[in-house]
Amino acid sequence: MSIQTPKGTRDILPSEIHLWHFVESKVQEIFEVFGYHEIRTPIFEHTELFVRGVGDTTDIVEKEMYTFADKGGRSLSLRPEGTASIVRACIQNRLLDTLPVLKLYYTGQMFRYERPQAGRYREFWQAGVEAFGSANPLLDAEVIDLAYELLADLGLKQLSVQINSLGDDACRPAYTRKLLEYIERHLDDLCGKCVGRYERNPLRVLDCKEAECRTIMVDAPKSLDHLCEDCQQHFEQVQHFLNDLEVDYAVNPYVVRGLDYYTRTAFAVVASGLGAQDEVLGGGRYDKLVESLGGKPTPGVGFAFGLDRLILALEAQGVDLLEPHPCDVYIAAIGTEAEKVALKLSHTLRQQRIKTDMEFAGRSLRAQMKTANKIHARYTILLGDNELARNTVVLRNMQSGDQSEISQMELMETLLEKLNCCSSP
Ligand code: AMP
Repeated sequence: MSIQTPKGTRDILPSEIHLWHFVESKVQEIFEVFGYHEIRTPIFEHTELFVRGVGDTTDIVEKEMYTFADKGGRSLSLRPEGTASIVRACIQNRLLDTLPVLKLYYTGQMFRYERPQAGRYREFWQAGVEAFGSANPLLDAEVIDLAYELLADLGLKQLSVQINSLGDDACRPAYTRKLLEYIERHLDDLCGKCVGRYERNPLRVLDCKEAECRTIMVDAPKSLDHLCEDCQQHFEQVQHFLNDLEVDYAVNPYVVRGLDYYTRTAFAVVASGLGAQDEVLGGGRYDKLVESLGGKPTPGVGFAFGLDRLILALEAQGVDLLEPHPCDVYIAAIGTEAEKVALKLSHTLRQQRIKTDMEFAGRSLRAQMKTANKIHARYTILLGDNELARNTVVLRNMQSGDQSEISQMELMETLLEKLNCCSSP
């Protein structure tokens, strides 16, 4: 059998690439409108970065990382998420001192050895933002507003923003102990996965999707009831600012995030129509992360969302994303002389940025017209001996079927006028 893509990975084909281009350009536009600057970091990093940055008790680091030794014996890992790398880049390049609030965004592939299913892959794309330098709840509200604006602007409907507060170093340890005690009393009724990991990461039991765990966790202590005064105030202010911004949100004590570095605000955006993997975006505040990776204490807040899952959601909700015309003009040439003229003509048209393609296989006119249809050309230029003798071409509108013979001199002007007046979506 021929070689296939590795499990959990896939090709993004030309027929679907317009969806990706649409999402990527919207992401860039909206992130920049909110004052974020792009940063690109390596696809692999020292394994230690993720062990320290993401947390060695998380599923991601414990079970899901693609870790390997390079030929020099260093332990490297394909990045499973973006934040730790961005923090490393900020420390290494001294970016944190450049602005009072540093706003960065990224897009790229992430890698996690997970059990693949619809909307869950081993190689997937994430885009995200990180804002460093302020613990002000204004910034939490702005970041959540950005997340909502972006998804709504992309055309996603039935969005639900869910927020929670996980507390900080002052109140979280006592809360976690209470949660652990509760979980231990109900161990017999929890799913195997939760029993296996509750000691290392008790918060994750709260967002387990298994029915038996959900039922048990209804009565579990919630972080919101155990916040210290500062965290309580911070959370109230986040909500106050979200109300001012008219962001439609709900407080959900089960939003906990799977990564160790979150403090205070945690949030997720869920879209209907996605089944089990319905969370398209997740984020929160991480005030201790920079310090734990060797930088000076710097608060931060951000989010990441999966492009794959977002595109699935857009498709599931039937959002109309018209495929752009990949080709404006196809030149169908009959005969060697006509082919030579076609080559020069395509060169001239392309200089005007008209998307042009032509025949290279010397096939019949019928076969060439078939190709023009297949690649959705808007116009076809027909060029044979008769046209060459008269210095003309036949210009055919592929949608209406109308065609007329025009001189080669007027071709460019005519085409530019026709293409501009009805430009492709
Ligand atoms: P996380 O980094 O786990 O907080 O996830 C943030 C977002 O990335 C999620 O809301 C998903 O949209 C996306 N995501 C996470 N894991 C996967 C995966 N294995 N496949 C596809 N998308 C994912």
